[in-house]
Amino acid sequence: MSSLRPRARRLHWRTERTRNVSQGAFMGAMQSVRRWSAAAVAATLCGWLSTFAPAVAEDGRRAGFVGTAVVAAPEKAMPDVPAARPVTRTDCAKAKCVALTFDDGPMSSTAELLDVLAAHQARATFFLVGRNVAARPDLVRRELAAGHELGNHSYTHADLGRSSAAKVREELERTQEAIEQAAGVTPTLMRPPYGSTDKNLALTAKRMGMAQILWSVDPLDWNARDRATVERRIVKGVRPGRILLMHDIHASTVAAVPAILRRLAAQGYVFVTVSELFGGSLTPGKKYVQR
Ligand SMILES: [Zn+2]
Repeated sequence: MSSLRPRARRLHWRTERTRNVSQGAFMGAMQSVRRWSAAAVAATLCGWLSTFAPAVAEDGRRAGFVGTAVVAAPEKAMPDVPAARPVTRTDCAKAKCVALTFDDGPMSSTAELLDVLAAHQARATFFLVGRNVAARPDLVRRELAAGHELGNHSYTHADLGRSSAAKVREELERTQEAIEQAAGVTPTLMRPPYGSTDKNLALTAKRMGMAQILWSVDPLDWNARDRATVERRIVKGVRPGRILLMHDIHASTVAAVPAILRRLAAQGYVFVTVSELFGGSLTPGKKYVQR
């Protein structure tokens, strides 16, 4: 009997880890930052992205709502992946939860962010650009091993809400494959670049088993590029259950995170992944802005 127990435990672990990392996600509408809406239209054009994506307005900021269960895809064998750490689940129906999300990476600045998050025992969700995953698979593995959640943010940061069905599928599938190859998990969350979505994207995301995750607090960090401004806007906009949007490709954003974590923790906030925020109950294709 005793010889079976470790094995059973390991199997349980795989399940937990896969479920934790590959579920969840959402979108958000501007709330306390609604005055920046006009600027936000130009927003999320995430700096470097303009090098391969036409400038497109944000047009997908509509609320979505909670749905039912998502089943995680089986984990693939990844012998070089560091062992996952145990993760304490938080019941966000009771706790004062907030979901930090970081888009457009991984890039070199992601490594420093991971150190910061680890120092504060905070978990986050990373919406990854497939081509960056292919370039830095090591950082994706670090994200996963640290207990963070991984989401799909298209392969080239394309405006999926204005793309053909074939293009949408290609962007999402290539990114799923890149993440699977890098980290051995299949995301069940996606975030449309620029918040740009439409019925076709919703249908494709549904077929691929991914919920659409937007956000409810946007400090426009890609535009501000200023540590103090990002910190102030996040702290001002935060409420229990909200999804915070930032970009780990900007050093100024990464520099703002330690103070953000300190100040929100002092207010009693718990930092959870997007799936955890919703208790693991997300419906593929649906849009989520906050809990
Ligand atoms: Zn983005």
